[in-house]
Amino acid sequence: MNNEKKCIGECLSEAAKGAQALIAGMVHIFKHLFIKMDTIQYPEERREMPPSTRGRHYLRRYDDGLERCVGCSLCAANCPVSCIHVEAGENNPESPVSRGERHAKEYRINILRCIYCGYCEEACPTGAIVLRDHTELASYKRDDYLYNKEMLLKYPKYQPERKNFWKRWLSV
Ligand code: SF4
Ligand code: SF4
Repeated sequence: MNNEKKCIGECLSEAAKGAQALIAGMVHIFKHLFIKMDTIQYPEERREMPPSTRGRHYLRRYDDGLERCVGCSLCAANCPVSCIHVEAGENNPESPVSRGERHAKEYRINILRCIYCGYCEEACPTGAIVLRDHTELASYKRDDYLYNKEMLLKYPKYQPERKNFWKRWLSV
């Protein structure tokens, strides 16, 4: 008889614990019904990336269309994984490509080797090479990751502006 009572007591205690856990779970779920979800419907919706995001590389131009890159190779010299290749060419004064004496005749980045450290951007004296907040770089084709100068000068369709970023270069 005593054993039976003990067994019933243990069963009731376990049932009470189960009910307690169930109620706690329901309360937790109920609370989340009224909390704003962090999930977004990507790719229809996109988050604004932080200003410090280091994504895809671009070569910038001045407002008059001239290229900022003067082919000095400082970016390549500072790249820790040697994934930048620059070949400089002399500017024709009749139809200059850049504002300097020289311009980048060839500019290539093997983006598969890049570690997105931003050293190239830091080293560039004219603000030509920049890492922007475009991070959708996936592709099945290896060639898509070998950026040449034409690809670097072209912005993709989706290119949100990086707020506060240009302030750094306004005086350049
Ligand atoms: S971000 Fe770093 S690794 Fe990538 S190209 Fe620039 S310097 Fe090289
Ligand atoms: S991107 Fe800048 S650092 Fe690199 S070669 Fe051009 S001017 Fe020089």
